[in-house]
Amino acid sequence: MSDYVIAPPRIVAVPVSGGGSFPVRRIFCVGRNYAEHAREMGHDPSREAPFFFTKPADALLTGGADMPYPPATGDLHFELELVVALGRGGVDIAEMDAPACVWGYAVGLDMTRRDMQGLAKKAGRPWDMSKGFDLSAPIGDLVPAERAGSMANAALELRVNGTVRQSSDVANMIWSVAETISYLSGLVRLEPGDLIFTGTPEGVGAVGRGDVLEGRVGALPALRTRIA
Ligand code: MN
Repeated sequence: MSDYVIAPPRIVAVPVSGGGSFPVRRIFCVGRNYAEHAREMGHDPSREAPFFFTKPADALLTGGADMPYPPATGDLHFELELVVALGRGGVDIAEMDAPACVWGYAVGLDMTRRDMQGLAKKAGRPWDMSKGFDLSAPIGDLVPAERAGSMANAALELRVNGTVRQSSDVANMIWSVAETISYLSGLVRLEPGDLIFTGTPEGVGAVGRGDVLEGRVGALPALRTRIA
């Protein structure tokens, strides 16, 4: 018998390819993890330690559902990313122990209100509302790590209405998945159920209502969503 005074919030979960669902605790996102994307955003990729922001777990959009065009922006950008799901956590995780923390992988989109983010950067304000708005994190089905195999080399490709807009490889990440987990676990305690959006390559751009986004990372199940 709980003594909650209202009904508790629902547990957010991501479907697993082949059955079951993965309950989500937190979503961490890596900023500027591909050199060419850092350059296209006006930064020098060689001089930065990894940095992170978060999205709320209930920002996830699963099952290929339509993504409603969000309010308060005229510049909604896509960022195709490899998503890592943690089955084990910890603090100060050594790089060599990080792979054992990975439960699985999925394809994700870090949707961004780029106009709002630009203003926030200029004003020195937080990114929460430009990155963590409702349904800002479409995600494909998760694949367990043992079935996905090594994701150290995997082609990333995002198509909008069939046209390739982003094309790179996971191998081009500045900070590898293991380095990212290790670094992040020095900042906060990681827990099972955490997701990490590992950053986007170059080619980010705007989409509008009616556009269909299709993202692929290696052989992971493709992510498809339509902006509604
Ligand atoms: Mn991103």
